Amino acid sequence: MYLPAITETPSFLFGVLLGALLLCMGLCLGVWFGRRATMLYDVRSMDRDQVQHLLSGLFQWTHGFANDVSQYREFMDGISTKLSPGDNSTDDGQVSTLMAQIVQANEQLQQRLNHAEAALKDQAEEITAYMSEARTDTLTDLPNRRAFDDELTRRMAEWRRNETYVNVVILDIDHFKRFNDQFGHAAGDAVLVEVARVMNAATRESDMVARLGGEEFAVVLAGVEASEARRAAERIRKAVAANAFRYEGKSLRVTVSCGVALALAGEDGVSLMKRADDALYASKAAGRNVSHWHDSQRCVLLTASSPESRQSALTPQPPPSDAAFVRVCDDLRQRLLEVACEDA
Ligand code: GH3
Ligand code: MG
Ligand code: MG
Repeated sequence: MYLPAITETPSFLFGVLLGALLLCMGLCLGVWFGRRATMLYDVRSMDRDQVQHLLSGLFQWTHGFANDVSQYREFMDGISTKLSPGDNSTDDGQVSTLMAQIVQANEQLQQRLNHAEAALKDQAEEITAYMSEARTDTLTDLPNRRAFDDELTRRMAEWRRNETYVNVVILDIDHFKRFNDQFGHAAGDAVLVEVARVMNAATRESDMVARLGGEEFAVVLAGVEASEARRAAERIRKAVAANAFRYEGKSLRVTVSCGVALALAGEDGVSLMKRADDALYASKAAGRNVSHWHDSQRCVLLTASSPESRQSALTPQPPPSDAAFVRVCDDLRQRLLEVACEDA
């Protein structure tokens, strides 16, 4: 078998070097495009200026990269011609000069590649920042409605594949308009931030707590049974009600109402949210500061049925002598709610 001696066939060495370099470039491009593909998934969440900025950066980079590579190819073509077997004019001295030039050209291209990679890294960080901005609520730092919808879609798909449970809890601060009117919008904002903190503290890492908008929040609890989700809703509700929100030396209190639902066989995210929302509505109608869960047929009260626990913190307590009357009203309200939920 014929094995070429490197010193006799410099074009063999040249071929190996060129091949290795092209392989490296191919690998770099492959990794980069792979990463970029997942990022581009969320380009739709950017505004026009951001997309334009991203595209012009990409254009400049690909343009510069293509120039570098074509210059390199021209240079290598030149060398290859000089080393072609038909050209007898190249002696050993010239070959080593040409080899030195190849090494230098490789180093230059490598430097440019390093530079391009650093520029790409900066750009990738910029895109990541845009993406997280578009998915985060600026006031509370919680995931926003878009991020919540994506998470719910992902969890619903997982549930269809692996039958892992998906629950949602929707929460709404009670009488928040009244709170703003009484203590000011800035105090309201501070409370929203604090409610977000309390909710995060009362849930697990794997649950997604999001701000849907205004004074409405939601939690996705995946992989846990409905009983766990119901407990989580009550845990959050009690934690908010027990928390004293400090604002400008004042100690303020708010309460939340909750609605819980577990995804049913064949159900989609929209229907699941609608049932959780019905349960939330039932909690509002039941006097607020309570939780209901939608059992697929009707809304069922979760909160222990004491007049105190159902009382919103901002609603004055009725005198004790009215307790019997309150109980009758509660029972009547509960019955009406069940009927309303059945109709919905
Ligand atoms: P309910 O118990 O029925 O939910 O009554 P509510 O007053 O909370 O509900 P309503 O929908 O009537 O009012 C919502 C209020 O939430 C009105 C709005 O000023 C306030 N709100 C929404 N977003 C923000 C916000 O970002 N900051 C502040 N401070 N208030 C907000
Ligand atoms: Mg509200
Ligand atoms: Mg609301």
